[in-house]
Amino acid sequence: MIDPKRIAKFKLKPGKKVRLKDHDTAWRPDGKGAEEVTEETMAKNLELLNEAQGKLFAGDQWSILVVLQAMDAAGKDGLVKHVMSGLNPQGCHVHAFKAPSAEELDHSFLWRCMRVAPARGTITIFNRSHYEEVLVVKVHPELLSKQKLPPKLIHKTIWKERYDDINNFELHLARNGTRIIKIFLHVSKDEQKRRFLERLDKPAKNWKFSLGDLAERKFWDDYMAAYEEMLTATSTKHAPWYVIPADHKFVARAAVAEILTNTILDLAVDYPTVSKETKLAFADAREKLLSE
Ligand code: ATP
Ligand code: MG
Repeated sequence: MIDPKRIAKFKLKPGKKVRLKDHDTAWRPDGKGAEEVTEETMAKNLELLNEAQGKLFAGDQWSILVVLQAMDAAGKDGLVKHVMSGLNPQGCHVHAFKAPSAEELDHSFLWRCMRVAPARGTITIFNRSHYEEVLVVKVHPELLSKQKLPPKLIHKTIWKERYDDINNFELHLARNGTRIIKIFLHVSKDEQKRRFLERLDKPAKNWKFSLGDLAERKFWDDYMAAYEEMLTATSTKHAPWYVIPADHKFVARAAVAEILTNTILDLAVDYPTVSKETKLAFADAREKLLSE
């Protein structure tokens, strides 16, 4: 387990200006064997998570949305795989957001997100999300002109408007029973380079490399600026952002598993209880089955 006080430090305070340089990408617990201990406790955490998810599903009222954002090679896919290993696939969905399709561009940018927002009792992970609209689109403003927006509506305040829309969208979900956890996997530029080289050097990892990723790396500073502004504008009480150090994969995975488990446990959902009448009916059903 990662110290809860440390986890609390990863959580951004609403309204506070974010400087990513103040957040260490390479943080890891101290001491010999810390990795093994963290991994062992993560395995226990995943068992807790599984139990909590069972109750969430049976309760059929609350839902959980995990928003995952990161630069390329920060470990989004591995994280999803590890955290999901503790979940019942029946009540969990992962949705990867790619460049919008023609149909999606014919609607407002939140349309495709609302359609795949979690159903009651379930957990949905957004692998990339509505936040791409204020990240990749902001770094490459030419994308905005392809969004079929009436030109009159594209003005300087568009990013501020988008932050407002996103905050309101998330507030709407929160007010209807969705707990939202937003995770930024914070990886350093050096670590990204190391991982890209590994993808190029190891045949089994070649498929993960795309030349486009190298082109995006040139915009690293622009992305960091867009992330800082976005994190500052959209860290809210109802949908907090966590900046998770991601240079060490075991740290990121254990931290996210812990945050997710605690969020569900915090809802204090238990299996629904049955009424006296139903209990009597159950006793009757039992008798009938036994006397068959
Ligand atoms: P991986 O490369 O690890 O498989 P990925 O999330 O990078 O995962 P890709 O298919 O490589 O998946 O990339 C998806 C691309 O879609 C990203 O470059 C992302 O910026 C882009 N994208 C997502 N949403 C939007 C959007 N709303 N507008 C424009 N581009 C978007
Ligand atoms: Mg990619």
